[in-house]
Amino acid sequence: MQANEASTDVIIVGAGPVGLFAVFQLGLAKLKAQLVDILDKPGGQCAELYPEKPIYDIPSVPVCTGQELTDRLLEQIKPFEPIFHFGEMAASLEKIEDGKWRLTTDTGRVLVAPVIVIAAGGGSFVPKRPPIPDIEDYEGTGVFYAVRKIEQFRGRRIVIAGGGDSALDWTVNLAPVAKSLTLVHRRTEFRAAPDTVSKMRALEAQGLVKFEIGQPVGLKGAGGKLDAVTIKRGEGDSFDIEADALLPFYGLTMKLGPIANFGLNLNENLIPVDTEKFETSTPSIFAIGDINTYPGKLKLILSGFHEAALMAQAAYRYVHPDKTLRFQYTTSSSELQRLLKVA
Ligand SMILES: Cc1cc2nc3c(=O)[nH]c(=O)nc-3n(C[C@H](O)[C@H](O)[C@H](O)COP(=O)(O)OP(=O)(O)OC[C@H]3O[C@@H](n4cnc5c(N)ncnc54)[C@H](O)[C@@H]3O)c2cc1C
Repeated sequence: MQANEASTDVIIVGAGPVGLFAVFQLGLAKLKAQLVDILDKPGGQCAELYPEKPIYDIPSVPVCTGQELTDRLLEQIKPFEPIFHFGEMAASLEKIEDGKWRLTTDTGRVLVAPVIVIAAGGGSFVPKRPPIPDIEDYEGTGVFYAVRKIEQFRGRRIVIAGGGDSALDWTVNLAPVAKSLTLVHRRTEFRAAPDTVSKMRALEAQGLVKFEIGQPVGLKGAGGKLDAVTIKRGEGDSFDIEADALLPFYGLTMKLGPIANFGLNLNENLIPVDTEKFETSTPSIFAIGDINTYPGKLKLILSGFHEAALMAQAAYRYVHPDKTLRFQYTTSSSELQRLLKVA
C-alpha cells in the first residue's frame, strides 16, 4: 500500500447532510467510513448555500438553520470517528482485486473499500468562471479559484476579484505575504461579514491593500504567465494592474463532474437506484440523497436520511458476506449504546 493510500469499509463521496447521516447508519452497523468532499467544510448545500436560512421540515426539529443542522449531524456522528478529506474531488473509480473499489481524488489520494456510497447531491461545487477571454490559458498558472497553500502566493502581485466572504477573507489573509494586493469589486458595498470588511479597510488604510471599483475584463501575459489584469470601471475607462496572480471569487455552481465517468447508468445527470437498498446499476455502489432518482423521489433531506438507513443494511452484506446484521433499536440495545458511547 502506498503512503497516500488508505483502506476502509465504505467510501462516501459527498459530506452533505445525507453523506453525514450515512456515517451514522453505517456506524450502527459497525462499518467505518471515509468521506471525500470538494468543499473545504462539511454540510453540502446546507452549509454552502443557506447556512443561516431556517429549515422547518426536519422531523422533531421545528426549526434549525442549514449550519445548525450540519453541526448537529457532526455531533451525532462523532462516536463513529469518520475520516474527512476536504478540498478533494473524487476523480476516478476503478474495480480492483477482491471485488473492491479504488477511488482516486484530484490530489492523488487513493482510497480502497468494498462499498462506495455516492452522496454527491447536485454534484460538486465548482467556482464560477468570470467571462474573461482566454482565461483558461492562465488557470492554474496565473488564475486561481482557491487558495490551497498561502505560501504559493508569497511575494506575488495579487489581484482579488469579488465582494463576498471568500474575496474579503483571502484579501485579509494574503495581504501580509503578497508583494502587492489589489481588491477589485464592482461597487463599494460588500456582501462579506462586516468584521472582515473592517479588517480589509484597516489594511487599506495601512497601504497593504489597494481597493479599486471595477471588474476584470482582460488578461495580459504569454505562455500562461500573467503580467497584468485589465480592469473596467462600470461603463467607463479601463486600466491595467500589474499582477502575477488573479484570484476571482464569484461564487460556486454545482456540476456532476467526474461522477459522470464512474460507469454508472445516468438519467438526466441523476443516478437511478432501487428503492429497497438504494443501490445503483453497479453492485456495491449506492447512491443516496439528491443525486439519485427513483419513482416518487422527493429531493428532501429527510428522504436522504431514510435512504441512508436502508443503504447501510445492504452495505453490511458486502463488507461481511458471512454475517447477518441483527435489527436493533438504539433505545434498548446495549450494543448500539456502546457504539454510540452512551453506555
Ligand atoms: C436554498 C435551499 C433551501 C433548501 N431548503 C430545504 C428545506 O427546507 N428542507 C429540505 O429537506 N431540503 C431543503 N433543501 C434541499 C437540501 O439542501 C438538499 O436536499 C440536501 O442538501 C441534499 O443533501 P445531499 O447530502 O444529498 O447533497 P448536497 O447537500 O448537495 O451535498 C453533496 C456534497 O457532495 C460534494 N460532491 C459532489 N460531487 C463530488 C465529487 N466528485 N467529489 C467530491 N465531492 C463531491 C459536494 O461538494 C457537496 O458538498 C434546500 C436547498 C436549497 C438550495
